[in-house]
Parts: sequence; C-alpha cells; structure tokens
Amino acid sequence: MFEKSELAFKEAYRYIPGGVDSPVRAFSSVGGTPPFIDHGKGAYLYDIDGNRYIDYVQSWGPLIFGHCNEEIEKAVVEAVKKGLSFGAPTELETKLAKEIVTLFGSVDKVRFVNSGTEAVMSALRLARGYTGKNDIVKFAGCYHGHSDSLLVQAGSGAVTFGAPSSPGVPADLTKHTLLARYNDLESVEKCFRDSDDIACIIIEPIAGNMGLVPADEEFLQGLKALCEKHNALLIFDEVMSGFRATLTGAQGITEVVPDLVTFGKVIGGGMPVGAFGGRADIMAKLSPEGPVYQAGTLSGNPVAMAAGLASLKKLKSNPTLYVELGNRAKRLMKGFQAAANAEDIPFTTAVRGSMFGFFFNANPVKNFDDAQASDTEMFAKFHQGMLQRGIYLACSAYETGFISSAISDEMIEESIMAAYEVMREIRG
Ligand SMILES: *Cc1c(COP(=O)(O)O)cnc(C)c1O
Repeated sequence: MFEKSELAFKEAYRYIPGGVDSPVRAFSSVGGTPPFIDHGKGAYLYDIDGNRYIDYVQSWGPLIFGHCNEEIEKAVVEAVKKGLSFGAPTELETKLAKEIVTLFGSVDKVRFVNSGTEAVMSALRLARGYTGKNDIVKFAGCYHGHSDSLLVQAGSGAVTFGAPSSPGVPADLTKHTLLARYNDLESVEKCFRDSDDIACIIIEPIAGNMGLVPADEEFLQGLKALCEKHNALLIFDEVMSGFRATLTGAQGITEVVPDLVTFGKVIGGGMPVGAFGGRADIMAKLSPEGPVYQAGTLSGNPVAMAAGLASLKKLKSNPTLYVELGNRAKRLMKGFQAAANAEDIPFTTAVRGSMFGFFFNANPVKNFDDAQASDTEMFAKFHQGMLQRGIYLACSAYETGFISSAISDEMIEESIMAAYEVMREIRG
C-alpha cells in the first residue's frame, strides 16, 4: 500500500536529513512511512502509490479552500506571468496590507516576510527595540517558529522529539526567555516579579501546537493588564489562528487587543508568506522609518501576495464560511468522541472555528502539562488506523486539525465511521 513511498523515503533519507524538510513530516512519533504526495485536489491528497486521503492537515493550516482552488490558482498564474520577483515595491503588497489593516482593529501597519518564524522573530526584535527591554515571556507548549530565543518548550515538533530546547541555541540567548504556564496568570505574575526587564509577552491566543488549547478570556485580559502595568507589549501569534478560527482569528473571539500580531499560513494561501503588524507608533520604529532593522530579499513576493489576496477576497466574500466550517469541525469531534466513548477510551476534544483538536485524555486540557498527560501510544495507533482508511490526520498527538471548505458532510461521516472501526481496533 505504501511501497513507492517507502522507496521514496529511503532515497530522500540519503540526501536530506531524516528525509524531510520539516521534522514532524517524518512520522517519527506515529511510526510507519510518510506517504509521499503526488498531488492534491479539493479535499483530497493523492500519494505516489495512488492512495487517496481526506486531508485534515491542509499543509498544516494554509489551505482553507482545499487543494488547487481555481481562483487562487488563477491569481498565482497571472502573477507568475508578470515575473517571479522584483526586489522592488509592487502594488500587490499595499493591497494585501490594506486588507489586513481594514480587518484587524489592532493593526495600523503591517510588514510582510516569508514565514511565520520570521514574522515572530522580527516582532520580538521590534518589541525589544520599542520598549528598550530584553526579556520575553512565552508559554510552555506554545510554538512560535524555530528562532533561537523561542526554542524553549515549544510544543509539537520539539516535544514529539523529546528535545524541548535544541543544541545550538546558546543559553545566553534563552536566559532572556521566561517560561510561564498557559491559562495560569499567577505563573505570568511571577515572571514580572522575577524580572523588571520584560519587553513583551508572546502567546498563541488559541494554542494550536500542543494540540488545540484555547486561552480563557480572563487569562488574556489578565495578560493585557499585566503588560499595561509593566510597560510591556502583548504579542498575539496568530500565524495559525489568523483567518482560521474566525476571519480575524482569535481577535474575532476575545475582546483583548494586542499591541503586535503575527500572521502566516492562511495569509499566503499556500505560498510562503508571514507578516507582522500592530500599532502605528510601534511599527514606526521599524527600518527604514525607525532604527529596528529587518529585511528580506523575497519579502512581499508578488506571487505570494497574489495568492494571499485571492484567499482573503474569497474569505471576505463568504460571510457564513466560518460557521459552516465550525459546524463540520464540531460534528467531526462529536463523532470521534462518540466513537471513543463506545469503547471506553479516554478522549477529549476542542473546536475553534475551522480548527479542531483531540487528546486521548480523560480530562479537559488547559495547558501543556495536561496535554502531555495524554496517551500518545493510543494516538499513534489511531493515526495509523485512520491513515489506512484514507483519513489523513496530523502525525503527532500535539497538532491541530483543519477543516477546508472542500470537505463535505459526507466526508465527515466517512471519517467518523472510520474512527469507530479504529477505536474498536485499539480497544481489541
Ligand atoms: C506554524 C507556526 C509558526 C511558524 O511558522 P513557519 O511558517 O512554520 O515558520 C509560528 N507560530 C505559530 C503559532 C505557528 O503555528
């Protein structure tokens, strides 16, 4: 069933470390061979052995309209014909920036980069440059990309591989990263007691990299109050949740207004794009307007901007989209829960818009400690069983799943039926 993929993986292994260009893709935590993809279409992925899967990974979030959406494809092809990159300004950048500024009350200005990692790294530098302070507060289990100062207890990839921090990151850098517990305000207050040099708190307001763990509203409000009291900035990392949980990400759910926001994934419609934005007086500190340096040869790439613009246009013209996707996500999670209950398997779920998550855990999950108390062996069995039945789920117990507009109610039903079979298999 996976013969060609097995060969392809072996061949890749000879030339690429671990055979992959991003660690979680290697299937290390669930076992087996990662299917090598030939192509995608709508809701489906097709591997090189000819297997077809309902895709709940969506390139880890970006593809909210599924694979090969016609309008996005058309916008990309048109842009390609005009040239791949200029290293000079285009109107496309302004158009996409204007869309974001119009949508997000928290964002007056925005700068484009090439990945979420880059967006967060740059936002942190800006927060430090603006406040003149050095320390940052991050939460265990939150992932903000792989830049040095953020590779401290960083969820999914890092946890999966049992290396919460990485060799190659000097302790001199991470000593400025204070670690707090998600949904635990007291742990953040302690950080402010320990340091009077805190530039910012960075948080995934809907955590998606320790499984799906939403933040409590009072918690977010508490963070905002602490930041105001101590002249620190609040950064929402909405690389995953932006344009995913709601059109305006977590900011469509919480009343709390962050000082800076980072974007990625959906904003590029499948092309490599990241962005960070925020209050005008903070963004004015950024080079060339201000002294905080940041740059990129391919930043604001016209092809990527065109894909992002086409995606945003579709998202905005579709006011009921998030409710529909959310309903499908809820139906899927309700189905998985029922399948687990039928076999007395401990299980808990969460949904935020088109994002869904589940843990093999009897208790609700509020933070990284809770998440890590889940049964990852059961997850691995579940993942394998579902894959064999044509259901493509993220290959780690600490990831979030995504519904695309191409996924139908029938596909949800098919997935739930598969879950019943697999849960029975696990129990048996
Ligand atoms: C994926 C992700 C990143 C990193 O983005 P890359 O494009 O992979 O560099 C940062 N923050 C969050 C919340 C993410 O989900």
